[in-house]
Amino acid sequence: WEAKMAYDVVVIGSGPGGYVCAIKAAQLGLKVAVVEKNATLGGTCLNVGCIPSKALLHASEVFHEAGHSFDTLGVEVSPKLNLKKMMAHKDATVSSNVGGVAFLFKKNKIDWLKGTGKVLAAGRVAVTGENGKVDEVEAKNIVIATGSDVAGIPGVDVAFDEKVIVSSTGALSLAKTPGTLVVVGGGVIGLELGSVWARLGAKVTVVEFLDNILGGMDGEVAKQFQRMLAKQGFDFRLGSKVTAVKKVKKGASVTFEPVKGGDPETVDADVVLVATGRKPYTEGLGLAEAGVELDERGRVRTDGHYRTSVPGIYAIGDVIVGPMLAHKAEDEGVALAEILAGQAGHVNYDVIPSVVYTSPEIASVGKTEEELKKVGIEYKVGKFPFSANARARATLHTDGFVKILADKASDRVLGVHIVGFGAGELIQEASVLMEFGGSSEDLARTCHPHPTMSEAVKEAALATFFKPIHI
Ligand code: FAD
Repeated sequence: WEAKMAYDVVVIGSGPGGYVCAIKAAQLGLKVAVVEKNATLGGTCLNVGCIPSKALLHASEVFHEAGHSFDTLGVEVSPKLNLKKMMAHKDATVSSNVGGVAFLFKKNKIDWLKGTGKVLAAGRVAVTGENGKVDEVEAKNIVIATGSDVAGIPGVDVAFDEKVIVSSTGALSLAKTPGTLVVVGGGVIGLELGSVWARLGAKVTVVEFLDNILGGMDGEVAKQFQRMLAKQGFDFRLGSKVTAVKKVKKGASVTFEPVKGGDPETVDADVVLVATGRKPYTEGLGLAEAGVELDERGRVRTDGHYRTSVPGIYAIGDVIVGPMLAHKAEDEGVALAEILAGQAGHVNYDVIPSVVYTSPEIASVGKTEEELKKVGIEYKVGKFPFSANARARATLHTDGFVKILADKASDRVLGVHIVGFGAGELIQEASVLMEFGGSSEDLARTCHPHPTMSEAVKEAALATFFKPIHI
């Protein structure tokens, strides 16, 4: 490509926010380029996030099931771990997905400007290639979709080597199963990657600042799930503030003290995974010089139409406010592309599902009980356990339950929380229902196929206003 090329839209960052925005904008007839500094497209999600973690979660779950539940099903095997092959499956999954994005760019005539993007001003982006050559492009609209990066532990110096002291990126590529793994942070990423290595044989200890895991999740769900993980061998040190993570002779050590006060304690492990969250990535983007405002947490400040403080510059995805989720970034990408093409793009932030891909899975959409109590909305609760579901019994997936929260007066569904096998797929009927403002009676009167796990969703809906049939 030539210097001084002119585009309708230049997107900086090719993660789920950026690449989806680019494709949608191109489909709507705009001339689009994407600046990406990584060697492959797809951002955090496809390269070192959602996709590789799900490949390893699936493979490790099959390995674990082969050694545990297969026997009950009359399938006798002696599973043996081939970690290299498992990692090769993960790598192949990543490369087919990132290759898919490159294919879609070609198909939609989107230019990939390889290099690091910097906003010079509204309408002007500089791209520094690997060889240091700087090119400048003109853009009617600039979209900042630079995502997020690993956040360390506030006030603690963590020297990541991605072998012994690792972030999620290193935890996706360990050369062997650690005998012991300490996970700092009991959030989604820590519990998912902790599960991978626990299933492959590691003894996992989770050190968490809060008094519960999965902060922000429905309290009952988080508590029950913690018990399930404890049964799987997880050790939890909740209400613990980490004060040091250090390399020691063999492995690393984590020092923590009770948040409420008390003596510090140090635990050694072969590997320490620091999974304390992510921070918006705006390094080297030139935002301050260009006059683009950040908020108090370093996120690019935007209005309801993804406009930053500078006209012609927009931002979406992890780098702005809201849940750091790939599908949230994607939907913002679509909405913004529509807005840039003169249409009415919109994202409904009340219906953004979230899934924890552990075993069992946890999925949730809408409000938690705690949130409803806080704002004083009166609600009804309907619950149904998978232990009373025929399909769950047939497949040995009886752990977990469905919980539905509906408005007491109108019966409108306000929140759905599912712990159980396939929860990530089951949640979507609730999302669609909520998107259309449906009631729990609508859900309970919708015919569900038998025998399926989804019947538990129907029964939980029934339980919000009458009695479930099968319990
Ligand atoms: P990103 O995906 O972070 O992409 C930003 C891109 O911008 C990167 O490729 C980066 O190289 C590029 N970039 C940054 N600055 C520049 C620059 N100046 N010039 C050029 N390029 C630049 N979310 C889910 O919904 N489901 C999951 O299962 C899930 N699992 C996860 C597991 C892990 C281990 C991690 C770490 C995250 C996971 N996430 C998951 C979160 C998800 O990855 C993010 O929400 C999503 O990637 C955000 O998309 P984005 O487009 O905003 O940014």
